[in-house]
Amino acid sequence: TSKDNGKHQYTLCSPEIKEEVLKKTKITNHLYRAIERGEFVLYYQPQISTASREIVGVEALLRWRNHEFGVISPKIFIPLAEQTGLIDAIGKWVLEVACRQNKAWQNAGLPPIRMSVNLAAEQFQDRKLIGFVNKVLYETGLDARYLELEITESTAVDKEKYKYTTQMLNELKELGVSISIDDFGTEYSSLGRLKSLPIDQLKIDMQFVQNISESKKDEAIVKTIIQLAKNLELNVIAEGVEKEEQYEFLKKERCDEIQGYFFYKPMPAAELEGILHKHSKRLDMEVKL
Ligand code: C2E
Ligand code: MG
Ligand code: MG
Ligand code: MG
Repeated sequence: TSKDNGKHQYTLCSPEIKEEVLKKTKITNHLYRAIERGEFVLYYQPQISTASREIVGVEALLRWRNHEFGVISPKIFIPLAEQTGLIDAIGKWVLEVACRQNKAWQNAGLPPIRMSVNLAAEQFQDRKLIGFVNKVLYETGLDARYLELEITESTAVDKEKYKYTTQMLNELKELGVSISIDDFGTEYSSLGRLKSLPIDQLKIDMQFVQNISESKKDEAIVKTIIQLAKNLELNVIAEGVEKEEQYEFLKKERCDEIQGYFFYKPMPAAELEGILHKHSKRLDMEVKL
């Protein structure tokens, strides 16, 4: 037993670390049953056009409520899900629920909006993703142009996987969905590679956005990303907009869309519905696609 190991184990593994590991194991065990127990729920955060101030899309953000641990952040359980292979099932659940929800809003007569769904790196590495997206679109009846998939910059520009990535993106584009590069600016993107990727949008990472009006350098980075997007004819959105001056700056620099607490926090479907009733406007996809 561990008692017999005495001193050594304590020097290698402090009680705090032990507790961490135990907690992680416990959370992982709960994670296995979270789907069947109905512990997941999607929240939706509006994305606003700076030109019209209308809601043009929402990002689906996963929430996990567990009776023992309370609400657990995706920053904690998504990495765990990736390590344990559970991300496949969870990712499928998210995609299905998000598409069904978006179609339900349209069926209810609300103006159609884009639904952004985050893809974990692991999901993107699986070729079966293409067939699954196709199936979900077919089964939910959602028009593909109202689905956007977010992959992180690190997934998109991985040098070793460039050929694979390009092919996957091409196949997704053939289905009619759009692609956004999440957390843009945090990796060292090869612009040459970025140029030839079939993508639709850059999403400026909030670490730069939140330093607007505090750091000239971060402002310069934000401006540069916006210009890059314009020059590559991509849509550009800023995330983590919390303050009026950040919004004003982004509007002035002609950032197409913004997402952040300044306008709305992520919220349950029912709450968003009320807001859509009042604020949303038909998204003229013909112009965009
Ligand atoms: P992300 O995709 O970059 O999502 C944006 C995160 O920023 C969300 O955190 C959102 O709630 C938060 N946020 C939005 N506006 C503001 C703001 O004005 N200020 C601040 N401080 N934060 C803001 P959240 O929901 O905790 O998600 C964290 C990350 O977890 C996401 O980052 C994404 O990488 C991952 N994630 C969430 N849901 C999913 C999912 O369904 N699948 C996968 N694979 N990953 C997910
Ligand atoms: Mg995202
Ligand atoms: Mg992001
Ligand atoms: Mg992020």
